[in-house]
Amino acid sequence: MADFETPELKEYPVIPVIVNDAMAHSKPYIAAAKFQESLGFPGALVDNWQEKAIEKMGDLLGKSRALQVFLDSCVKCGACTDKCHYFLGTSDPKNMPVARQDLLRKVYRRYFTFAGKYFPKLVGAVDLTKDVLDDWYSYFHQCSQCRRCSVFCPYGIDTAEISMAAREIMDHIGEGQKYCNEIIVKVHVIGNNLGLPGPALRDTLEGLEEDVKDETGVDVRFPMDEKGAEVLLVTPSADFFAEPHVDGLIGYGKVFHASGVSWTTSSYASEAANFGMFIGSYEQMQKLALRIREAALDLGVKRIVVGECGHAWRVAYSFWNTLAGVGHGGKDPFSIQLQKQLDPRFPVPQHICEMTYDLIQRGALTLDKSKNDDRIVTFHDSCNVARASRMGNMPGGQFIIPRAVIKAVCNNYVDMDPDTIHENTFCCGGGGGLLTDDLMELRVKGAMPRMQALKHVVDEHGVNTLAAICAICKTQFAKVLPYYKYNMSMITSVHELVSKAIVLGDKQ
Ligand code: SF4
Ligand code: SF4
Repeated sequence: MADFETPELKEYPVIPVIVNDAMAHSKPYIAAAKFQESLGFPGALVDNWQEKAIEKMGDLLGKSRALQVFLDSCVKCGACTDKCHYFLGTSDPKNMPVARQDLLRKVYRRYFTFAGKYFPKLVGAVDLTKDVLDDWYSYFHQCSQCRRCSVFCPYGIDTAEISMAAREIMDHIGEGQKYCNEIIVKVHVIGNNLGLPGPALRDTLEGLEEDVKDETGVDVRFPMDEKGAEVLLVTPSADFFAEPHVDGLIGYGKVFHASGVSWTTSSYASEAANFGMFIGSYEQMQKLALRIREAALDLGVKRIVVGECGHAWRVAYSFWNTLAGVGHGGKDPFSIQLQKQLDPRFPVPQHICEMTYDLIQRGALTLDKSKNDDRIVTFHDSCNVARASRMGNMPGGQFIIPRAVIKAVCNNYVDMDPDTIHENTFCCGGGGGLLTDDLMELRVKGAMPRMQALKHVVDEHGVNTLAAICAICKTQFAKVLPYYKYNMSMITSVHELVSKAIVLGDKQ
């Protein structure tokens, strides 16, 4: 399958013996000049890149007090060293979170601290050389910005923020990553990550209506651009066609149908994912989020519901409000108009799992759990949902609600080891803008800790279904499960399970 070895799954987690530079060769492709330039970045590495990089670092330090605190406060306690899935899967010591941080920290010290300027050797400060830049490009693209390490750091140092800053600096000197930057351009030009134009999306939705009619005999609608609908659903574009994502979209449609809530998708805002976060660019994150605000205003909806996508939910939950005036922030006329338009009885934004959970709690859905009796299900907490957002109005709602939805539609549910779920969850290995074939070795090795936890529940409980609420996790698992000798069809959308169990026709 590939020219690297898939890690062996052990009985118990084992801290690997260090192999220096084991992953130094792992680098994603650099973005083509036309994509870099269309995002306002230089097309290729600029001549005075050191000067520009330091200038950009100073700019980021000025804007983010947190970044400076993270760079100043590490005491090298070592608590994070064995917490990163990429270190556990690759044995490369530069994939220890503290070592990854140090790649940026030692340059920060050299140019922004008194001791680093005058006594660099004493404080481990180094010049920004081409070798250092090459290490940045390699190892800051071996961090999925999952934030697991920050849970274990006594100082709460968030390596994800440091990775985002490093990527933003690299974009500004002309070393942007192909996968992320080309996707962002596609959203600006076409409306979604996959570059699917409106007519193709509409065709897909019509096809889903026919499929559901054949399956159930019920006319379930999958609308697009319908003004006056109550709900705007924004979902990752993978939901429109990829497996198992599309089965989740079918589930959302059935839930809307069964609850009698009118809804629509938007051809203009046909993407919930927001890769602006992965490259650390608030400017791009804002531009992408504003498309959703514009669509909500244009369609006159009362609610905005976000489909199954981990980082989309993080951006929606944590940033829409302040960055794009979607919610209760924003003082510009469009934000104020949207605040008046949206129904205050519902959260802004609302996750599809929150909506389904609420309907289940109110007895508004008829569910036949036995329809999933062929499945023994476990749930993978996606990093951005688990460690960077919440659901519902209860502490830990982001863990409780998806599980409650699964348990309402399945009789057989088992959790993986506590050290690997909830806030301790392991990344799927493909998050943070790394879901690209040029990083396949990293993705397979980084998935090892999650696969190990999965193996335990497969061996002990006969689990045959891995449910998730993130488009990246689903795509990643569909690709890496076979490397670990599991069937790719194990990975399932939570709303696919809902779709199987929901009984249509009554309670409409
Ligand atoms: S944020 Fe996640 S991927 Fe990045 S260093 Fe920490 S544990 Fe590793
Ligand atoms: S746990 Fe925090 S303080 Fe300790 S080495 Fe890691 S980043 Fe530094």
